Amino acid sequence: MKNLICLSAIITMIITNSCMSQEKADLVIINGKVLTIDKENPAAEAIAVAGEKIIAVGSTKKIEEYIDKGKTEVIDAKGRLVIPGFNDAHVHFGPLDPDFIELRYTTDPSVITEKVKAQVARSKPGEAIRGGHWVHEMFTDKKWPSKELIDKVSPDNPVLLNRADGHSVLVNSYVLKESGITRNTPVPFGGEIQKDPVTGEPTGILKDAAMDLIRLGNEKVERTPEEQKERTWQGYLLAMKEAREYGVTSLQNAGAGDFDAYEELHKKGELTSRIDIGAPLTGDTAVLKKYKETEKKYPDEGNWIRFGYLKAFADGSIGSSTALMFEPYADNPATSGLAMWQYEELEKMVLAADKMGFQIGIHAIGDKGNNWILNAFEKAVEVNGRRDSRHRDEHTQTVQLSDIPRFAKLGVIPSMQPTHCISDKLFYEKRVGYERCKGTYAWRTFINAGSVLAFGTDYQVEPLNPMEGLYAAVTRKDRLGEEGNGWFPEQKLTMEEAIYYYTYGSAYAQFMEDRKGIIKTGYLADIVIVDKDLLTIPENEIMKTKVDYTIVGGKVVYASGN
Ligand SMILES: [Zn+2]
Repeated sequence: MKNLICLSAIITMIITNSCMSQEKADLVIINGKVLTIDKENPAAEAIAVAGEKIIAVGSTKKIEEYIDKGKTEVIDAKGRLVIPGFNDAHVHFGPLDPDFIELRYTTDPSVITEKVKAQVARSKPGEAIRGGHWVHEMFTDKKWPSKELIDKVSPDNPVLLNRADGHSVLVNSYVLKESGITRNTPVPFGGEIQKDPVTGEPTGILKDAAMDLIRLGNEKVERTPEEQKERTWQGYLLAMKEAREYGVTSLQNAGAGDFDAYEELHKKGELTSRIDIGAPLTGDTAVLKKYKETEKKYPDEGNWIRFGYLKAFADGSIGSSTALMFEPYADNPATSGLAMWQYEELEKMVLAADKMGFQIGIHAIGDKGNNWILNAFEKAVEVNGRRDSRHRDEHTQTVQLSDIPRFAKLGVIPSMQPTHCISDKLFYEKRVGYERCKGTYAWRTFINAGSVLAFGTDYQVEPLNPMEGLYAAVTRKDRLGEEGNGWFPEQKLTMEEAIYYYTYGSAYAQFMEDRKGIIKTGYLADIVIVDKDLLTIPENEIMKTKVDYTIVGGKVVYASGN
């Protein structure tokens, strides 16, 4: 009897195996070092894909059985590292502007003058000149830039140059004049019009809500609507190209976006990253009902374009000294930051949106801003009852250590951006002092407290390239690769963890961990092959790592040719 059972088991095995070998793949990857991020099956050599999904993960020998010669596309990874596609949990994605003045990593402020001068020469009088991503702490003099830097080269054009964090903008006198901003303009709630301490005149720096004062009434529209439409379309194509070349297969837009544009991209086969698009948080039930309609059109079950979470801001940023803190700034005791809402207003909106089942994500940087949104989410549980809401704390930058365990307890996702850490560490300690830095970008403390992090970039505040995020997460060092052990090194992650939160963690934050973020049978085939073994290379090689293949939904959307 025993033998009979054994024999039948063997026969079943043979039948199953022979059936499986008849199943053929559209695409296979062989000879790889596959980091699956799947805890049950962490490592493999090869993957078989049929249609949009992964149908098998295992050894090269096993996966070769899925090859239908002449029909199956075979990628020989030649020992390279194969990982799930990157999922950027916080982006401000949209069409790129080919005329944008890129000021990232600028150290000499006179470069700003030169670049604006060159762009003015290419533009017509009255046409707006836009650019940004400067960080004044990177300037040699570390001073806030002022309108004098750009006024002389732009007498007839409005110039608007954002700080990298998007919470401040440098404008020229043209803009101040057009907008009617003078030394006497009342400062709006949640904003600042920076003034010269000697003359009392606006310096050209507008912070947060003060940016809403900008009016470009006389801006000349030099393009026909058709020209503008084409320009926007080309801008989307550029942005998509950037995402696939960096291996970013999923994007989660923080805030609103143009659903129709992404539909159009999808229809034309140009949508090469999945995208979630949210909407501004509101307490207005009529608007929330409208959101429900949009959500029905772009439901959770969809895999390409989905309605995301409802976004609000609790505060500003550390770089601009507008993040809301319990105690004053160390380098500016006159301020403790700015609240974007009265707490009661914020709570009201959270309660209304939570009641209707929406996911909410709130930008919070300062310890008080973070505390407020935890309070609001806690209140939502109290009033509306507990559900798997996965509300999100976008940035989760400086948190009181006593607040950290509340995240896991309430099921609130810390949605964090590792590159902010290595950009901001230049000035963080100066702004908030050593003690408060202990709860700043506290990845390890969050993980120990039971949180699942979601990783992203806050693109275009930071570059979209995930390699910079991975480097930041494992080193906490500046991009030049400074000496030493990194900034608050006890918070550093391993490379495997960093990839995990950039793939599985981000999928979890959007309720999609059942379909993507790991390399596993039945999951969407979103896969990236990189040219260096991130798990073993020295730190200074991480940011030099390039993507060789990007696969989305089983289709190769980018191949470097290597
Ligand atoms: Zn953002």
